Amino acid sequence: MIYLDNAATTKPAESVIQKAEECMRESFGNPSSLHKLGLEAELHMKQARKIIADSIGAEPENILFTSGATESSNLALRGIASVYGKRNKKRIITSAVEHASVRNTLNYLEQQGFEVIRIMPDKNGRFQAEDFIQAVNENTFLISMMLVENETGRILPVQEVFRRIKKKYKDIILHCDAVQAYMKLPVKLRELQADLISFSAHKIHGIKGTGALYIRKGIRLTPLVTGGEQEKSIRSGTEAVPSIAGFGEAVRMLQDSISERLEEAQTKKDYLLNLLSEMSDIIINSDTDKAYSSPYIVNFSVKGIRSETMLHYLEQKEIYVSSGSACSKGAKSGVLSAYGIPDAMADCAIRVSFSEETTTEELYQLTQAIAEGQKTLIHKRS
Ligand code: PLP
Repeated sequence: MIYLDNAATTKPAESVIQKAEECMRESFGNPSSLHKLGLEAELHMKQARKIIADSIGAEPENILFTSGATESSNLALRGIASVYGKRNKKRIITSAVEHASVRNTLNYLEQQGFEVIRIMPDKNGRFQAEDFIQAVNENTFLISMMLVENETGRILPVQEVFRRIKKKYKDIILHCDAVQAYMKLPVKLRELQADLISFSAHKIHGIKGTGALYIRKGIRLTPLVTGGEQEKSIRSGTEAVPSIAGFGEAVRMLQDSISERLEEAQTKKDYLLNLLSEMSDIIINSDTDKAYSSPYIVNFSVKGIRSETMLHYLEQKEIYVSSGSACSKGAKSGVLSAYGIPDAMADCAIRVSFSEETTTEELYQLTQAIAEGQKTLIHKRS
């Protein structure tokens, strides 16, 4: 099997599984219980919270556990809108390429009467910090930007925008979806200056259904879920201790090798881009300049063959990739068209995303399989 869909999800690491198993078998108490088993479970959460906080240079009390980045971003955006989005404070600025968890939440807020400004990339498919700054007016209370866009891997100038906003407009709240960047590129609070950051465990070899939200001290949020007052009453409900402990373990395992893995991923990306450049009828949709894109994601179109057709052809050979333009089961997200990629090309897009386990041999086999697919599938059609 060749698994090249790591931006969708990653295989849980062995040590993550062990950690979660240990919690389930031995520390299965409710972390809110006052007895020994409860305290043991609480200790696992405390350790995970500290590891995650340390990894970004935050304090543990500012990390809140959720069911994933989708919930983190919903809580951040809806929670902020309900506290800070008052009569004359209605403007939210975002990029035109956000993940559905932010995009659809902002669509919802727009329906509720907020004004959402979506910044487009320039003609080279790059975002200019200045465009975000220019969109700010006296009604602006929130900016939400992702660090690494998940379909083509483009890096957005979040750091520059947030730094400039913090200098000039102290009251605007800054949210960042760091899901595809965390543990892949450096994500440090001091540089990012965000007030809220969304994270997901399953993109970094953790377990699905677990995430975190960093909340800067002093920021107030209306909870989405009320109940037993867990997570400082901002996110009630008994915590998923095994997968939270696993999340901590995944970060512990990865945090010291970010730059080393980044270099390796760049070598793999360069290798794949080189192989693709020698093939016919391949158009690269990712930015190939490493200053503007994550080395973990390569998006390209195979002219004349629809994404799903190629995806299933590769699947028969046990090669797993993603259709590059679709977010949820065939529904177009509009991200590729925001970069000016024509529909005919977006319909043929394939996204390949690496993990540290990806080898150049696997990438070679992928390109061989695509070349075969080009012959077989086009032949079949004619
Ligand atoms: N944000 C980005 C950029 C993503 O790629 C994803 C997952 O696809 C999410 C948010 C949602 O994360 P989760 O699956 O933890 O809800």
